[in-house]
Amino acid sequence: MKAYRAALLRFDDQGQPLYDSDGLLVVGPDASGRKVVRAAGSHDALIDRLAGVAVEDLRGHLIAPGFIDLHVHYPQTDVIGAPAAGLLPWLENYTFPHESRFADKAYARGVAEFFFDELARHGVTTALTFATSHPVSVDAAFEAAQARGLRFITGKVLQDRHSPDGVRDETEQSLIDTEALIRRWHGVDRLGYAITPRFAPTSTDEQLRGAGELAAKYGDVWIQSHVAENRDEVKWVAELYPRARSYLGVYGDFGLLRDRAVYAHCIHLDAHDRILMRETGASAAVSPTSNLFLGSGFFDYAAADAAGMRYGLASDVGGGTSFSPFHTMLAAYYIGREGHTKPGLSLTPGQLWWQHTAGAARALGLERVVGNLTPGHEADFVVLDPKATPLLERKTAQADSLDELLFALIVLGDDRLVAKTVTA
Ligand SMILES: [Zn+2]
Repeated sequence: MKAYRAALLRFDDQGQPLYDSDGLLVVGPDASGRKVVRAAGSHDALIDRLAGVAVEDLRGHLIAPGFIDLHVHYPQTDVIGAPAAGLLPWLENYTFPHESRFADKAYARGVAEFFFDELARHGVTTALTFATSHPVSVDAAFEAAQARGLRFITGKVLQDRHSPDGVRDETEQSLIDTEALIRRWHGVDRLGYAITPRFAPTSTDEQLRGAGELAAKYGDVWIQSHVAENRDEVKWVAELYPRARSYLGVYGDFGLLRDRAVYAHCIHLDAHDRILMRETGASAAVSPTSNLFLGSGFFDYAAADAAGMRYGLASDVGGGTSFSPFHTMLAAYYIGREGHTKPGLSLTPGQLWWQHTAGAARALGLERVVGNLTPGHEADFVVLDPKATPLLERKTAQADSLDELLFALIVLGDDRLVAKTVTA
């Protein structure tokens, strides 16, 4: 067992932040040997029970749950900041040519190592990430994550049409490869597999049907894809699937909406779609820096809450512009405020932070596993230094409430704020 003394942030079951200005986080093995949170709370309330336990003094810092990135593409690490006129040209001119290089496993492993270094620098401890259509891109990422002991989810991209040579796969083989990867990696250590159709336009009916059959056969495997990101894409899907009720409905028709299914964007949904999300247990990965960068639109938080949809935050690198959870939370605030295409609202700092930690874990079906620092959670956490820059030091010193402190960190924070990232 080991204890850490610092300010401590965690969340209650309703998603409200719990805060101890002089807190203690106690970690140690559980009955099965996993490194978990054994106790968390105020220093004075806990310290008497901890005779003989080493306490690392981190006063002046804030300990918070490790961030969860609900949607990211590790192979697009080098596609950040590619100049393109919207989603479809961006895919054709930058993303597909770059992803074709991941047929080379050594190349993929090199990018994966850089990607995981970057996540750690930014305080991200779990990611649901796309690989590419090449099975070796999945092996490379899982091997790198396993060596680091991360809770990590990825999968081979399925795309057997409307894709150029080099990334397009073959229908039957793509499903054989997916099942082999599930058997090789899902549930090994802290790793999980996600069935990964890129999006409806790049898969044939046969491939989506096969993906749905695998999703039914392996019920605790994840599903990840994109939906309703921009209007050109929505229009294209309507042409390709004239009998579907909506873009989201295509996935429902093929058995790809259920618990542990995470759909990036979910911007141009209607009320029926949002109810379908709730009823099936699927979740949205809100990707605000990507949506602003590509000019895709604004996630409607009020409508999502009214429908009872689950959602959390994501970087969507390389459509997204930053791995930083602080940049993502600030962009989510901008998205929430936007009030011309939908009702505008002010997300509280605690809500923003929850969407990137405990809320994201709930969207993944990993509540009580990661994303929080109450007892029993795996001990993934970040140590933040509120004095990391002169302006952060000046601003956080004036904070009179938890909201003011958290919002200063969100608005002014970046990788310099992250003093240390600890994974279980
Ligand atoms: Zn994406």
